[in-house]
Amino acid sequence: MDIAKCTLDGSTYTAVNFALLPPNEMSEKRQNLVCTECEKDAFFRKASRTGQAACFGARPHESDCSFASAETQRVENEAGDEDRIRNPGQNIIIDLNYGAAPRVNVDVDPNDQGGNNEGRGRHVGNRPRPNANMQRRLSTLLRTLINSEEFRGSLQQITLGENEPTTVANFFVNFADVDAQHDYQFHGYWGLLADARLGNNGNLWLNSGGQGNISCLIQNDDVDAFYQRYNIDDIEDFAGTYILVLGEKNTSQNGKPYVVANGLERIVIQK
Ligand SMILES: [Zn+2]
Repeated sequence: MDIAKCTLDGSTYTAVNFALLPPNEMSEKRQNLVCTECEKDAFFRKASRTGQAACFGARPHESDCSFASAETQRVENEAGDEDRIRNPGQNIIIDLNYGAAPRVNVDVDPNDQGGNNEGRGRHVGNRPRPNANMQRRLSTLLRTLINSEEFRGSLQQITLGENEPTTVANFFVNFADVDAQHDYQFHGYWGLLADARLGNNGNLWLNSGGQGNISCLIQNDDVDAFYQRYNIDDIEDFAGTYILVLGEKNTSQNGKPYVVANGLERIVIQK
C-alpha cells in the first residue's frame, strides 16, 4: 500500500515521502506504523535494488480492510501444513534438524509414551497422554502459527528436547503478547519484523517494533550464515518478514526486551 500512519506523530505518510525522511527519523518511525484504515501493525520497505518501489504493508490487515485484497494475506502453506499438524492425539516434537532429509510423519510406540519417565506415573495435567509423536520443523510451525488461529490457541501437546511437554497455546508467544510474565522464560517467540539493524559489534537486531517491543538478537558469529541460509543480501529484506525464535526473554540495560537465538537451528524466518 502507498500510505501508512505513524503512531508517534499521528501523521499519514506516502511511501515516497517516507523514504525521504532522515535516516534516524525513519528508523524510529518505521517501527511505529499502522494501516490508515484497519490500524493493524504495518511495516515500511525501502525501494529494492532490483527496482521494486518503496512501499508499506501490513500482515495481516483486518479481513474487511480495503487494503487487504491488494496484498498477500496468507503465507503459502506447503503440502497442507495445517491439516497435517492439527491432531490433538499427537505430541508435536520440535525438530531442530534444519536441512536434513524430512522425517517420516509419525512415530507410534505405545509402549514408550513417556521416555525415561516410564513407570513413574508422571503426567502433566489430567489430559490423556498422547499416544503418538509427530516431528515438526520450525518452518512448518511458523507457517501454521501465521495461518491458523485455531492452532495458536491449541491445547495440543508440544515438546522440545528434554523439556517438559507443554501446550501449543502456552509455548508460542506472539510478539504483541510479550510482557513481564515472560521475563527469563523460554518460549517460541514469533511475529512480524519492522526492520533490522547491525550493531557496532556486528550483532544483528531483528526488531518487531520500537524500544518497548521485543527484538531478536543474532550474535555476530552467526550473522553471515544466517544471511546465507535465507539468501539475504540486503538488511531491508527483513522488513515485513515473519520470524520464530526459541529462547529466553531478556531485557537490556536500557530496557529493551530481546531474545537471543542460541544457535541458528533455533530460529526461522518466513519471507
Ligand atoms: Zn488495513
